[in-house]
Amino acid sequence: MIPLRGAVAFPGTPISLELERKMSVSAFEEAEKNNFPIFLLTQKNPIDSLPKPNEFYNMGTICKIKQFVKLSNGNVRLVADCEARGEVQSLIEPRIRGGAWRANVVPKVTVGDDDAGTKAAMIEAKSDLAEYTSVIPEISNELLSEADAISEGGKFADFVAANLFGSIRDKMRILKETDSFNRLVELSVVLSEQTELAKLQKDIHKKVKKRIDRNQKEYYISEQIKVLKTELGEGNEDNEKDKYTELISKSGMPTNCKEKLLKEASKLSKVPFNSAEYGVICNYLDICLELPWDVKTNDRNDISYARKILERDHDGLEKVKERVIEYLAVRKLAPDVKNQILCLVGPPGTGKTSIVKSISEAMNRNYVRVSLGGVRDEADIRGHRKTYVASMPGRIINGIMRSKSSNPVMLLDEIDKLTRDSHGDPASALMEVLDTEQNKEFRDHFIEMPFDLSDVMFIATANNLETIPAPLLDRMEVIELKSYSLNEKLSIAKRHLIPKQAERHGLTKKTFKISDMAIKEIIECYTKEAGVRNLEREISSLCRKAARKLVEDEKIKFVSISSKNLADYIGSRKIIPEKISEKDEIGVVNGLAYTEFGGALLKVEASALSGSGKIELTGKLGDVMKESAKAAVTYIRANAEDLGIEKDFYSKKDLHIHFPESAVPKDGPSAGVTMVTALVSELSGRPVQRNVAMTGEVTLKGKVLAIGGLKEKTMAAYKAGIKTVLIPKENLKDLDEIDKTVRESLNFIPCETVSDVLKNAVVGH
Ligand code: ADP
Repeated sequence: MIPLRGAVAFPGTPISLELERKMSVSAFEEAEKNNFPIFLLTQKNPIDSLPKPNEFYNMGTICKIKQFVKLSNGNVRLVADCEARGEVQSLIEPRIRGGAWRANVVPKVTVGDDDAGTKAAMIEAKSDLAEYTSVIPEISNELLSEADAISEGGKFADFVAANLFGSIRDKMRILKETDSFNRLVELSVVLSEQTELAKLQKDIHKKVKKRIDRNQKEYYISEQIKVLKTELGEGNEDNEKDKYTELISKSGMPTNCKEKLLKEASKLSKVPFNSAEYGVICNYLDICLELPWDVKTNDRNDISYARKILERDHDGLEKVKERVIEYLAVRKLAPDVKNQILCLVGPPGTGKTSIVKSISEAMNRNYVRVSLGGVRDEADIRGHRKTYVASMPGRIINGIMRSKSSNPVMLLDEIDKLTRDSHGDPASALMEVLDTEQNKEFRDHFIEMPFDLSDVMFIATANNLETIPAPLLDRMEVIELKSYSLNEKLSIAKRHLIPKQAERHGLTKKTFKISDMAIKEIIECYTKEAGVRNLEREISSLCRKAARKLVEDEKIKFVSISSKNLADYIGSRKIIPEKISEKDEIGVVNGLAYTEFGGALLKVEASALSGSGKIELTGKLGDVMKESAKAAVTYIRANAEDLGIEKDFYSKKDLHIHFPESAVPKDGPSAGVTMVTALVSELSGRPVQRNVAMTGEVTLKGKVLAIGGLKEKTMAAYKAGIKTVLIPKENLKDLDEIDKTVRESLNFIPCETVSDVLKNAVVGH
């Protein structure tokens, strides 16, 4: 008997073995010598090299040695024909170690091959085999067709068990059956079990594979995203954090600010990449890094150069230029005294912005304009806390950012248009900005770190001195810009606006010309303003139309605009100038007013109707004006007799004074003389001279007091065709300021009292 380890021999299928164990080789030698058959019996435990008699299965196979080779290491390789099953009766252990086992065996023949049941079992077993091979596709087709060719049930089962499946336990289940039917049934059971097992395995395999695939897919995709992000320069959170850390360390901000920002940047690796907070942090860091912490332009303190630039860009404005030059000179001598802040005050379009631009150019500083018009919230100046995505620094820090240097010239535009509401006072925040004691460490709510504003040169502009908050006005050095006269405007247009606009529209002296008369007409009949902004706009529109004409028709080589063809280009006149009345009238007086467009001639009308002494005032008048109307009436009552007026007019008549152009608000005391004159004329029935205009404040006792805006008012009088202007005596000194043409063409009469006024204005007084 040769014990088999991990193998089962089946009748009908030859077996090849290599015998290693001494007991096996001894058994072979004895059989070979005596020409005995060998009995191959499988041991239950394959790793047991010296099994006991009870550690064998009790069915084995009787074989005949067919071939053998003795190997040099003492092993024997042999091929044996397996002939029949043998049931063990008894086993005899070798008497010496390494001796041969012997077995008493009863040969068993297969029975029942011809039974009908066996045939049915055979069909069943074959179909089971087909299913088995469908799940285990590695089985060779040759073996399958060989199996298919076997017709006896017992043999078929043995062949399948010997060649097609692996486990010893299963093989033994087939070997132990001597009855064909039972053997086939057992085979079917084994095959089905194996099929199920294989299916299950396949299923598990599939699931495992799927999971691995999914994990791999996710891994693969996330790797791809990383690659794409680096390509886009975004990088992952850590890259971004590293990027910021590097930028912060390299930037020129003070050390304590760097520390704060580094701390902020380190938060990036703790918050999720796509969260709003991540965005807030990045936005904050970006803005802080964008601030020009240590960027400065080098000042040029050359006064003569500054004068050149101011002269180059501006016509006239002599006083203003002098003041600016003085201001720059003081800065040069005392650079550390930074307390002066210029404030340019004047009507729109008078060149305030353009002077500031020239100053910045002359000083070699960057220019930035910060608009304060309509600011009413402290946060507008100082910023919002950075808690939400859209929060921003305030206008000052924003201006610094736009200027790209820490010492720009910052134009605080329309400082008179600041308002205040419940969210704190922007004026007091602005005070802090302008105060040299405090602005070294200006704190914006968004930035949350001090920023040094002490090198910024602030220049404010305003239209109206009166609405600038008093504490701010206190800090500033005011320079007033007056409205321009016709001649000044003409000169500005010729020397600056037309060349500038012509160049912008691609026109030259050879292709485009405007006559002086046309310019004057634009000034007088198309624009109504103190400055030259609308004038510039009209000129720009003329240039546009001329350019179009030159391009559309190539035959036209030159466009000349005169007062004759002006209307063809910019349409009919927009403003009809106020003209004086055709004849002297009762109760109508030419008053002079100062509006935001410059001076204006206002015809004041007075009516006295029978009534009970009521006074009515119309024409959108302010409080001061109403009060001076009452003062005028009181003066007339007090002096009725001298004025030739019925003494009791105030109880018998209702008085109505009306100012034209109701849409324009009017205020100020300077219409005093006009109202007295209109009332006296109306009540006494004497007409007022049509070519006399007047201005002046009146006291109850009939004194005429000084007024402002003489230049503008007299200009309006001149334009309207007035011959004589009555002015307060105190204003005589201001006549120097008046435009030369105006001064030469008007007759000025200084008045000290109301009598002086009436004498010169009322016919027959
Ligand atoms: P403001 O700031 O006072 O409202 P701007 O400075 O914007 O006025 O002036 C409007 C336009 O008029 C600008 O193009 C400016 O160059 C021009 N301008 C105003 N005054 C003068 C002047 N005296 N000389 C030359 N150009 C002038």
